[in-house]
Amino acid sequence: MKYVGAHVSTAGGVENAPLNAQLINARAFALFTKNQRQWKARPLSSKSIAAFKANLAEAGIAPEHVLPHDGYLINLGHPEREGLEKSRAAFLDEMRRCEQLGLKLLNFHPGSHLNKISEEKCLDIIAESINIALDKTQAVTAVIENTAGQGTNLGYRFEHLAHLIDKIEDKARVGVCLDTCHSFTAGYDLRTAKVCDETFAEFDSIVGFKYLRGMHLNDSKPDLGTRVDRHESLGKGKLGLACFRYIMNDPRFDDIPMVLETIDQALWPEEIALLYDMTEE
Ligand SMILES: [Zn+2]
Ligand SMILES: [Zn+2]
Repeated sequence: MKYVGAHVSTAGGVENAPLNAQLINARAFALFTKNQRQWKARPLSSKSIAAFKANLAEAGIAPEHVLPHDGYLINLGHPEREGLEKSRAAFLDEMRRCEQLGLKLLNFHPGSHLNKISEEKCLDIIAESINIALDKTQAVTAVIENTAGQGTNLGYRFEHLAHLIDKIEDKARVGVCLDTCHSFTAGYDLRTAKVCDETFAEFDSIVGFKYLRGMHLNDSKPDLGTRVDRHESLGKGKLGLACFRYIMNDPRFDDIPMVLETIDQALWPEEIALLYDMTEE
């Protein structure tokens, strides 16, 4: 079974996210559990936590199909001590907020070397950051997202994801999220069923589908291999629809949250319906 949704708003409180998902007929969703552009956030109130759980149940969405995303300021591979410590503390707070909400996953971008250290050194710092957070929490799986490779962001090669997983002590609590736009602009073609076969075979041999815990379903404004992260509505970008038809009919993508981060929220109900219509029963 496929679980498709979108990255919904939490305006007015996290408890509104499941309701926003329900409004667009989503079976999965993503959210920020705090303001994604600020370091600090007030702790979640017990009232807000209880309301979130009640609304999630009301929407009929399982905690396993919610894919929270961490804040934009966090860099788990920061080359400097102060930035790294701030990032690690904020990431741990994000993990704990997910635990409080009864959620199982936390999706994040690996980190950036800022041209101050090598890619390999940066990946090692990121792995250590993840190990520290996993050590201090119990229930949440760290879900590493592949990136477009914009700027000095790591995670644009499947090898980067494999390098990180290799260094994580608790393999049961690490996974990956593939973003179709990021994959494409990082240089992995997904425009036809044939190239999807090849790209996902490469992913399977380097990372392994057993680590796939989520998908971001986005079309792409930029072209293949441009290493620019700009999402587009499904079918309106350089990626096209074949890739989404492929994913919706491949059982390797069953039972994980698959989330739209496309640019026009007004189209989300249509895009979700379009994806389900692609499924050949
Ligand atoms: Zn994404
Ligand atoms: Zn993106």
